[in-house]
Amino acid sequence: MKNLLVMKFGGTSMGTAERIKSAAALCEDAHAQRPTVVVVSAMSKVTDMLLETLRHAEGGDERGVDANLAALDAKHRDCCADLLQDLAARNTTQSLLDDILLEFSRIARGVLMLGERPPRSVDEAIAVGERLSSNLIAAYMRSRGVEAFAVNARDLVVTDAVFGNASPLMDQTREKAVNQLKPALEQRKLPVITGFNGATMDGRATTLGRGGSDFSASILASVLDASELWIWSDVDGIMSADPRLVPNAKVLDEITYREAAELAYNGAKVLHPRTLVPLMEKDIPVWSKNSFNLTAPGTRIVPETREGPIGPRAVTSMTNVALVTLDPASALLSGTKIMARSLEALAAANAEVLALTSSSYRQNFCFLIRTAELPAVIERLEATFSIELTHGYLNPIDVELDVGLLAIVGEGMKGHPGLAGRIFTAISREMVNIIAIAQGSSELTIGIVVRKDGIEKAVRAVHAECGLGN
Ligand code: ADP
Ligand code: ASP
Ligand code: MG
Repeated sequence: MKNLLVMKFGGTSMGTAERIKSAAALCEDAHAQRPTVVVVSAMSKVTDMLLETLRHAEGGDERGVDANLAALDAKHRDCCADLLQDLAARNTTQSLLDDILLEFSRIARGVLMLGERPPRSVDEAIAVGERLSSNLIAAYMRSRGVEAFAVNARDLVVTDAVFGNASPLMDQTREKAVNQLKPALEQRKLPVITGFNGATMDGRATTLGRGGSDFSASILASVLDASELWIWSDVDGIMSADPRLVPNAKVLDEITYREAAELAYNGAKVLHPRTLVPLMEKDIPVWSKNSFNLTAPGTRIVPETREGPIGPRAVTSMTNVALVTLDPASALLSGTKIMARSLEALAAANAEVLALTSSSYRQNFCFLIRTAELPAVIERLEATFSIELTHGYLNPIDVELDVGLLAIVGEGMKGHPGLAGRIFTAISREMVNIIAIAQGSSELTIGIVVRKDGIEKAVRAVHAECGLGN
């Protein structure tokens, strides 16, 4: 399909009936000009509420479950009434929403009865947020004469069975997505697809990780050979830092795929970490735009920027991380083998290593992972090293939770002597102690682990030192 545009609207861009109307206007504009596919997140806070409901259910808190169900129902009912003036259209959509919420409440009641939340049921349940929002916006556009229709990505995006953080199987997804969407697109219809979810080959519901709608949109853009992907959010684009932490952060006009991927991977919430992977090999450009400020052009994410590599571009931080240290107690143990076995354990736990450093003759080494992945990692490490730990050849595994990761990203940092020194000095001026440092030989990112309470100061200091702000 030539000139296909994929547009993704995040939770805030779908947050109220007013926001949905604005998003719909953008969809209609695009659709009038070129073939368009829309991907939507749940209304803001809905995924959190769905997850909280399941936690209440697991804990046996029936009242909490009922209160959340009522709140979810009211939120979508009010929105539906706001969007659809025509009573018949409103009733049809409302009964669809009722059915979807009923499915969720059945799962929640099942969890309440069992007292546990199987990951598979969680994935099935939390995709409900996107199913509700996609039906709302599609119905609103239909009420305005646009041939929009909601699609559950469960029928399009095929994934592996890693519930909660699934990865797409691109060939199978391509086949399904092309088969299902091409005829509709050829008839000038406008599909509105749920972000965040998919299903395994044998049809079990999965999700792509929190914030995963960006990833859904990029998967679909890739398999449909889109000519562009626009990601609509609540900031003017990708900025030199999170504007909530650094008030003078500035919007970047252009950024490379590699830079954007590093930023996302190191905690810039504006993009899901895996968003760019499916687009890179096809060179599909991405725009990050603000649905609250249509006059801002946004950030263009491209293979190469027009200006070329120009030093550090942005600073990010992440605090939901854990630093795990392995420390051989005996010099007889091969440090290299301990490292190799640890990495195997990490892979088996499906954990991602955010930073890894080693020094000292004893080859003690540490790595940083997401806190959510910690229990599975510790379980695997303890199983892998049960003999060494029992006999004291390996000191007890040390876990430090009071840490955060700061990362400075930029293709042009390569071969700039003195930059690291300036960054470390800026951090030390804030009296923040550096716990670990990681820089790959590509010199694209410098990762620095500091105490949590120093991270915000450190981010601002590095941002200022690198002259990144307005
Ligand atoms: P959406 O709901 O549209 O997916 P998110 O909340 O996931 O939006 O991401 C947008 C948020 O990302 C912004 O409100 C901003 O606070 C945060 N953010 C973090 N780092 C950056 C950055 N470098 N540039 C822009 N926004 C950032
Ligand atoms: N609704 C999902 C979440 O909150 C996915 C997304 O918004 O991208 O994580
Ligand atoms: Mg997001």
